[in-house]
Amino acid sequence: IKTIGILTSGGDAPGMNAAIRAVVRKSIANGVKVKGIKKGYQGLLNEEIIDLERNSVSDIIQRGGTILGTARCVEFKTQEGQEKGAQICRKHGIDGLVVIGGDGSYRGAQDLARKGINTIGIPGTIDLDITCTDYTIGFDTAVNTAMQAIDKVRDTSSSHERCSIIEVMGRNAGYIALWCGVANGAEDILLPEKYDYNEQRIINNIINNRKRGKTHHIIINAEGIGHSTSMARRIEAATGIETRATILGYMQRGGSPTCKDRFYASIMGSYAADILCEGKSNRVVGYQKGEFRDFDIEEALAMQKGIPDYQYEVSRALSM
Ligand code: ATP
Repeated sequence: IKTIGILTSGGDAPGMNAAIRAVVRKSIANGVKVKGIKKGYQGLLNEEIIDLERNSVSDIIQRGGTILGTARCVEFKTQEGQEKGAQICRKHGIDGLVVIGGDGSYRGAQDLARKGINTIGIPGTIDLDITCTDYTIGFDTAVNTAMQAIDKVRDTSSSHERCSIIEVMGRNAGYIALWCGVANGAEDILLPEKYDYNEQRIINNIINNRKRGKTHHIIINAEGIGHSTSMARRIEAATGIETRATILGYMQRGGSPTCKDRFYASIMGSYAADILCEGKSNRVVGYQKGEFRDFDIEEALAMQKGIPDYQYEVSRALSM
């Protein structure tokens, strides 16, 4: 490998910059050049490619978002788009590529690997929903941002004796909701994976808690279930207790990454640069059972993971 390209793809996540920095510096240490591809696969097709030196990644480890930008690119899902992408890589001398993103982005990486460009994926998503790894870059920052915001809503909710429905990110995955539900001591947690939505049970729960003297009632709802505003209206009508929905939204994606995100990003980025330099391709970096490892992309995409039953059971037991 002579030149490694790097791109960020899909939704941005805090810690992506720390991963970019690690890939650049470890590659340079290995004697390899690095090029940054802006705006994901879209930027590749538009040939938005820049040289990255040691100093290009100075002063970014503490910054949220991604200095390369990110995008979703429909054209790259086509054979023609992938062929064009591989040709552009070759034209710029890029013979290895690191892709930081989620499952969708790995599919693109796999297609490029089939076309002769060595590719390695790094798990970057706030949702924690990549099956081959116990950790994804961005989760820790996002979950701490959400937790702090929920604490604030709880203060005002208690003062006004309200019920609050707080919607956190996670379209298909309830990890942010589960962790905040436990960490914020929520009374109810609604997860897409454990979908047993029963509004009457929630209403009874609110009424019983109020009788027992609780002044607030916090419901953490995952984005994948959604409809928080209409849920609030129905709950208020049924209980007579003022009920408000707060949708935390994009604030959960931003901000300076936590130490944990910077650390994992630095190790995973370095690991990706090292295995690319060793000649590996079509692999994803993961963290499993206390170790950094790499997996075949196809095998990684076929793995299954879900909300652990015991953790869910605990979240219910402690919310009484
Ligand atoms: P997030 O978890 O944040 O949604 P993601 O990587 O899963 O991240 P996607 O939107 O699914 O996000 O994928 C990002 C980009 O990867 C797409 O816009 C597209 O360019 C490329 N991609 C996705 N699926 C494929 C595929 N099957 N083949 C080729 N490229 C793909």
